[in-house]
Amino acid sequence: MPSMLDAVVVGAGPNGLTAAVELARRGLAVAVFEAAETIGGGARTEELTLPGFRHDPCSAVHPLGAGSPAFNAMPLARHGLTWLHPDLPMAHPFPDGTAAVLSHSVGETAMSLGPRDAGAYRRLLTPFLGKWDAIAVDFLRTQWDGPPRDPLTYARFGPVAAQPAALLARRFRDQKARGLLAGLAAHGIAPLGAIGTGGMALVFALAAHSAGWPVPRGGSQAISDALGSYLREQGGQIHTGFQVKRLDDLPPARAYVFDTSPTALARIAGLGNAYRDYRYGASVFKVDYALDGPMPWTAEAARRAGTVHIGPTYGEISAALHAAVDGRDPSVPFLITAQPSVVDPTRAPEGKHTFWAYGHVPNGWEGDALEAVERQLDRFAPGFRDLVLARATAGPPQLAARNANYVGGDIATGSVEGLRLLLRPKLTRVPYETAHPSVFICSSATPPGPGVHGMSGHHAARAVWRRLRGRESGGVPLTG
Ligand SMILES: Cc1cc2nc3c(=O)[nH]c(=O)nc-3n(C[C@H](O)[C@H](O)[C@H](O)COP(=O)(O)OP(=O)(O)OC[C@H]3O[C@@H](n4cnc5c(N)ncnc54)[C@H](O)[C@@H]3O)c2cc1C
Repeated sequence: MPSMLDAVVVGAGPNGLTAAVELARRGLAVAVFEAAETIGGGARTEELTLPGFRHDPCSAVHPLGAGSPAFNAMPLARHGLTWLHPDLPMAHPFPDGTAAVLSHSVGETAMSLGPRDAGAYRRLLTPFLGKWDAIAVDFLRTQWDGPPRDPLTYARFGPVAAQPAALLARRFRDQKARGLLAGLAAHGIAPLGAIGTGGMALVFALAAHSAGWPVPRGGSQAISDALGSYLREQGGQIHTGFQVKRLDDLPPARAYVFDTSPTALARIAGLGNAYRDYRYGASVFKVDYALDGPMPWTAEAARRAGTVHIGPTYGEISAALHAAVDGRDPSVPFLITAQPSVVDPTRAPEGKHTFWAYGHVPNGWEGDALEAVERQLDRFAPGFRDLVLARATAGPPQLAARNANYVGGDIATGSVEGLRLLLRPKLTRVPYETAHPSVFICSSATPPGPGVHGMSGHHAARAVWRRLRGRESGGVPLTG
């Protein structure tokens, strides 16, 4: 290790690794320190149940990863990352055996919503088709980061995206379209009346119509391993099994970049009450299944989809979100489920499958939601329990114990309600900078927020680079 590093990154999640890669790529000496024994944070793969069953304890499906300007500027394919696309990005089944589908094609999606809503779906999405790259660059960033690259698309997309999902849902007349929209919005764990939840639904729908909703071959660990391999190729170092408790634990560096929660950052870097007003959001109850065969969904479309949303109606999804956010036990949870082995045979022994599901629960909730989750699954895949070879569950305490960023089990590392998604971790022009001139934050607690896309790491790396260059030219005094 050189006597003085340029940058030390704390945490090897997708954002920490992206920040490290981007700094190393600029010729800086970079080292990453990760608490866990392996890299990846929320993008990892483990044999959680039985030998040969490769589960994703956290992220599984990657619309934002496949469409990420940061990832797409890196040669990750050369480092082992292959995106696998299921037949259908997502299916949203109903109890009568039919399903709304989110397909690559807007036409197929619109048709699945029924004749009364097909036109409204087309009208909502068509202005933004083919614009993913512009939307990703302009919206997966902070709002103060200069003028938009594509002002026209920005001006059209912004006002629609700012709306609550509840308002967008009024454009539709029937349950299929309203349920599909609510399920997409529910990826951000906030009530459907919250500002910006319509934008979340739109971004996920547009991703399906452009980059898709793929899974990485071998599991989400492949994303982290590709980032790690590229980082090492650029001369970066990675140290695992190293939990950072104080800034003094780390070697001297010109910049320290934290892929952690704001709370942990304040504690470790001695920033006092800097993030006192930061709020954490609801959590999830996660179940990973080893199955003896594919999920026996009643709806044919669900068997071909990588992701299956179990709601089904706008009303049920809305009630489930409210229960989690308001601190009530889940009774009829909305489930986001994924079945990576429909497209990736490496995830399970021949003929067997891995299945991934979570429902929302309150922050810090200590109950057991397994029965509620399985009751929901059984409505749409009757008898699936007969196929279960093994299951692994994780509620808020287990999620928090596995990754310190999930405070109270909040998988988004911060509430996304109201303007909190835009103003995280606090209202400031450069959210990646802190009160300490050598300390930066790059986790999903900064814009653009949760998901495996590395964009927070990308923007944080730019902030670090600007600061270090400023120092070299005598602009800012060197400290730390
Ligand atoms: C159950 C679940 C399902 C999800 N599903 C999806 C999905 O399908 N698609 C998607 O895009 N996203 C999904 N996510 C969200 C996604 O995983 C996160 O948004 C993403 O991983 C955030 O990346 P990050 O780099 O900011 O933080 P993390 O991935 O959380 O990484 C932070 C890293 O920092 C380390 N760390 C923390 N404190 C310290 C310390 N003091 N010292 C050293 N190391 C430290 C942690 O161990 C961890 O490795 C899911 C998350 C969960 C939990």
